Amino acid sequence: MAIQETGVSYYGISHVEHARRDFQEMIDHNCTAVLLALSEFDIDFWRRSIVEVVEAGKEMGLTVYLDTWGIGKWFGGEPPSLFLTNNPGNRQVSALSGEPIPAACFNSPAFREYFFELCERLARDVQADGFFWDEPHYALPKGYASITGGAGDDWSCRCPYCRRDFEQRYGYEMPRQLTMEVKRFRQDRALDILECAAGKIRAIRPKTKIICCVHATLGTYYVTENRGYDDWDKVARSDACDVFSTTILSYQLPRSFFKSITERTVETARRHGVGSQRWMMGYYQEPENLDEVSDIAQLYADLGVESLFAWTYRGGHGTVLAAPRALELWDAVGKAYGKVLGR
Ligand SMILES: [Zn+2]
Repeated sequence: MAIQETGVSYYGISHVEHARRDFQEMIDHNCTAVLLALSEFDIDFWRRSIVEVVEAGKEMGLTVYLDTWGIGKWFGGEPPSLFLTNNPGNRQVSALSGEPIPAACFNSPAFREYFFELCERLARDVQADGFFWDEPHYALPKGYASITGGAGDDWSCRCPYCRRDFEQRYGYEMPRQLTMEVKRFRQDRALDILECAAGKIRAIRPKTKIICCVHATLGTYYVTENRGYDDWDKVARSDACDVFSTTILSYQLPRSFFKSITERTVETARRHGVGSQRWMMGYYQEPENLDEVSDIAQLYADLGVESLFAWTYRGGHGTVLAAPRALELWDAVGKAYGKVLGR
């Protein structure tokens, strides 16, 4: 199946007239979809504009997704978390040191309530086509280092809520070591909150498409990264996933890695009858030869990816994470999209 959707993420949700101009630029760059990166602050402060910006995008023919960007620092992304600012507790806790980590524990009742309320408000007020779960993960206590995150000894979360829930299920105290039971428990809890949120969103807006985007982890016999979403089959078959998506890869990685991650993504999606999505890096880094962007997009298309996205609009121009030739990279993404769409 050919590529059916090409999109880009977008930070500009403040003024609808500006968004309209940018959406036209996206359409001119062969985008058929846009993903609004919504921080907790944006969702709270710009809530009226978000409604209008989404309406404008849809009017102009784009498919519009809402990205729960950086929320609780449980989802990936740079923005700070209002929840963490307003709650001294309810944090993930390091298993080895017992210290709190600057990430919300998504098993804590306070965070779950907060997240569900936020999803329900967006589902109620905003006419978007879908939600995007952006790299959800347990916090990795410092000390982890490898190509994509890596293996280490410490892990989270061993907070009072997680310990209580673990003991209720298994009948003994949660170990400090990452045993099979702990791994399974972490994975189950990690999916539970997404499944509950998906259920609440669909109860309000039944046709919502939910994209679950997990880290493009190695997941091999020797190395798994234990972010809680590393068992791709478990993620893809869950109720929290209509489209199975895997994240951006650095251009410095070998192309064989791009191929194997993409093959595994598409195979996993097909096995569970859901859509497939791959991401390209359209910020921060760029290949030496910008034509390679098109080669990678074509590789993804040839391997059967259905939805292709790049982070972010205009190569991150103006941000601290701008690609060195941000605007040229953006043009290269647009050209690559036109090619895979057969334009
Ligand atoms: Zn916890």
